[in-house]
Order: sequence, then structure tokens, then C-alpha cells
Amino acid sequence: MSRIIDGKAIAAQIKEELKEEVALLGKDGVTVGLAVILVGDDAASSIYVNNKKKACEYVGIRSVSYELSKDTSQEELLALIDRLNHDDTVNGILVQLPLPAHIDEETVITAISSDKDVDGFHTESAGRLLVGKKGFLPCTPAGIIQLIRRSGFTIEGKECVVIGRSNIVGKPMAVLLLRENGTVTVAHSKTENLKEVASRADILVVAVGKPKFITADYVKEGAVVIDVGIHRLEGKKLCGDVDFDDVQEKAAAITPVPGGVGPMTIAMLMANCVEAAKR
Ligand code: NAP
Repeated sequence: MSRIIDGKAIAAQIKEELKEEVALLGKDGVTVGLAVILVGDDAASSIYVNNKKKACEYVGIRSVSYELSKDTSQEELLALIDRLNHDDTVNGILVQLPLPAHIDEETVITAISSDKDVDGFHTESAGRLLVGKKGFLPCTPAGIIQLIRRSGFTIEGKECVVIGRSNIVGKPMAVLLLRENGTVTVAHSKTENLKEVASRADILVVAVGKPKFITADYVKEGAVVIDVGIHRLEGKKLCGDVDFDDVQEKAAAITPVPGGVGPMTIAMLMANCVEAAKR
């Protein structure tokens, strides 16, 4: 039976640390402000935005939200971002994705000042990460590094396999594991012999976006398994990309869904906002 990596508890610990830091910054007259932009009325996005606002409130970050109609034009959105880029009370700008089809995500993300890119999705942030310069890290992979470290596992020298190569999870995850001196393999939909590749991993990070895709036969005995996926099954129960019940027997440690990677993503967003204010 494997150990459950409690993302909720680790995220709570990080938020406590940030709360203290925000209070100290406040004493020096520095406030932390986040602007959150939501376009449209996607139910899941509204929940994510609300959770982010609640976390801000807890940590002591001033959050301002802009809830725009689904018909908002790209020009209107870009004008708002431009205004926020020049607003000194706003340290971080977050545009909740996905955006409606008539708006180009790439154009919007790159319109955010790279100094306020607390999601870490800007091409400048991605470039900085790749060449090892200081910059904002994308929240989900940065949270996973914290989960692994704070659970007492070593990355250095370990075989790390990341399944998935998206710009927001898989690719930055691979670079961060490499930065921690892991030996990294990135697998994707064209990877041959995925079971064999995944079974080499001491640390297996799964971000395929397919419910319960990874079963015990993809996992090495004693591996640390990090499940990034999140899916709502019929009956509203949540599950990840990993078949938790099947893998639990074999892994040394595993993240649950919910309560694993998800809470860490928000905690790291808070960390990026504090970092932005300090800069
Ligand atoms: P994505 O953009 O859909 O990427 C999925 C990746 O999985 C792609 O690189 C794809 O390969 C690969 N893939 C698909 N089928 C595969 C297969 N049969 N074998 C091997 N690889 C396969 O997804 P994402 O944005 O990275 O997100 C992944 C999951 O994490 C989703 O469930 C998402 O909801 C969740 N997520 C959670 C959080 C959180 O905070 N917990 C944050 C972000 C995402 P190709 O590139 O070859 O197509």
C-alpha cells in the first residue's frame, strides 16, 4: 500500500508561509495585487476563478476580478490587459483559460506584461525557464516539484518520466525535473512501448488528459506517481489520469484526485503573486 501525498496539506503549509510573507511586506508598505479576468460563463472556469479569489483573500492578496461577457472582443480584452499592465496596484494578471473561440489565446497571453505573468505562460517566461534564468514558473509543474520535495523524495539522479508534452504542464515539467538533476524522458501520443517507457520511472508524472489511463502495468514497483489529470465522472465523482486503486498497491507514493496536484496549482499562483510584488 502506497503513501498518499497530501497536496491539500502541503498547499496549506505553503499558503501559511505566504500569508506571513505578505504580512511582512505589508509592514514595509508593499501590497500584493492580482487581477483575474474571466471571459464567458464556463462553469468550471468560474469555480477555478472563485477558488483563486478565496486563496488570495486567505493569504492577504488583494484580488480584483473582471468577469466579462462571452461576446467580449479580442480588442476589448487586449485594452483591459494594457490598462492593467500600467496599473501599479496590480502585480499579477491572470486570464482564465480557455477563452472563447473568437479570441486567440497566444495573442492574449503575450499581451500580458512578462513582469506580471503570474501564470508563467508567457513565451518570455517559458524561454527563461528553458535557459535557466529567473522568471515566473508555470504553477502546476512548479507545484509538483514542491509536492515531491516536501514529501521527502529526491529528484537528483532519478529516472523521471513525464507523460504529456503540453506547454502548460508536460514541457515545463520536464525542464523543471531536469533542473533538479533528474534523468528525464518525455512521452506523448506517438511514443512507442509506453508501458515499457513509463515502467522505467522512479518518478512518473502523468498529464495525458484521459481518465484512469495509467494502470499498475505502467508503473514500476516503488515509484512516486504524480497524477495531474482531473476529470468529472458520471455521478460527479472526480478522478485523475491514473487508476488510483490499481496503482496504489504498487507505487511507493501517489497523489490523489482531488487533493493532490490541484491545490498546489493555486498555492503556486499565490507564490508567483508574492514574487511579482517583491520584484
Ligand atoms: P493536453 O494539452 O491535452 O495534453 C495532453 C498530452 O498527453 C499531449 O501531449 C498528448 O500527446 C499526450 N497524450 C494523449 N494521449 C496519449 C496517449 N495515449 N499516450 C501518451 N500520451 C498521450 O493536456 P494538459 O493541458 O497537459 O492537461 C493534462 C491533464 O491535466 C488534463 O486532465 C487537465 O485537465 C489536467 N490539468 C490539471 C491541472 C491541475 O491544476 N490539477 C492543471 C492543468 C491541467 P501529443 O502531444 O502527442 O498529442
